[in-house]
Amino acid sequence: MDLPHLTSLQNDHVKRARALDRRKERKESGLFLAEGAKVIATARDAGWPPETLFVDRDKAAGGIVAELVAWARRNGAACHSITPKIAEALSARDNPQPVIGVFKQRWAAAPDPARLNAGDVWVALEEVRDPGNLGTIIRTADAAGASGVVLVGTTCDPYARESVRATMGSVFAVPLAQLTHEGFLDLVRAWPGESVATHLAASTDHRRDYRGPVLLAMGSEGPGLSDAVAGACSVRVRIPMAADTGADSLNLAVATALMIYEIKRASLPLA
Ligand code: SAM
Repeated sequence: MDLPHLTSLQNDHVKRARALDRRKERKESGLFLAEGAKVIATARDAGWPPETLFVDRDKAAGGIVAELVAWARRNGAACHSITPKIAEALSARDNPQPVIGVFKQRWAAAPDPARLNAGDVWVALEEVRDPGNLGTIIRTADAAGASGVVLVGTTCDPYARESVRATMGSVFAVPLAQLTHEGFLDLVRAWPGESVATHLAASTDHRRDYRGPVLLAMGSEGPGLSDAVAGACSVRVRIPMAADTGADSLNLAVATALMIYEIKRASLPLA
């Protein structure tokens, strides 16, 4: 691999990439960082080339990184070789990945109620706060074949490093949309299948059949689902917990996984 070699943390490419740790910078530039050959191969498979690729040549043994560089170059990306020190700074890990990419964010349109299929499951997250939870949910949505994730209101950033890491590449596969509360309530009202609120006060067991397309509404880690969203949905369900448990609720990502798999139960055979 014959790449321009960067050795200084003060290099402009390096400084711009490091700045993507700040949400303001990600918002203004519309860019984000993803690291690791496996994750970046997922981006390639999804047809999502990077704008810039950084490669630690000392660690980049094996053909996969060379393949990724060739693909990135063919798609117009700037590719640089970097020192282990720069790799550490870009990845903020002691043991950084040999390849780190700068990618343009993509936002999907919110689901159109007139264009849904019965098998569609969209996951709506109201005011999700924890990027680790958000990334885990995106990964689960991908694994179970959900149609996409809608972020409702003010949420954490799916393109934050912690979220991207937790998706393990699924950030490149799952459509992500954003809606205000008002926009989401309009979507709920127009939804042709069941809109499902998950709520600790619900009296319906979540283990049931769902009429698709399904819009699954999950609440935030702190206060849970707002009354407005819970009241607008066509059904409210609860995941049972042991009578003598001291836990007052399940973790958001765990509850979302249980819900998606229950909704998808009949259409996810172990083929
Ligand atoms: N204190 C919050 C409340 O009273 O709703 C708990 C929020 S919980 C950590 C985050 C979200 O996970 C909830 O809003 C709900 O969507 C989901 N959740 C967690 N445990 C649940 C359960 N047992 N049944 C249904 N949904 C649950």
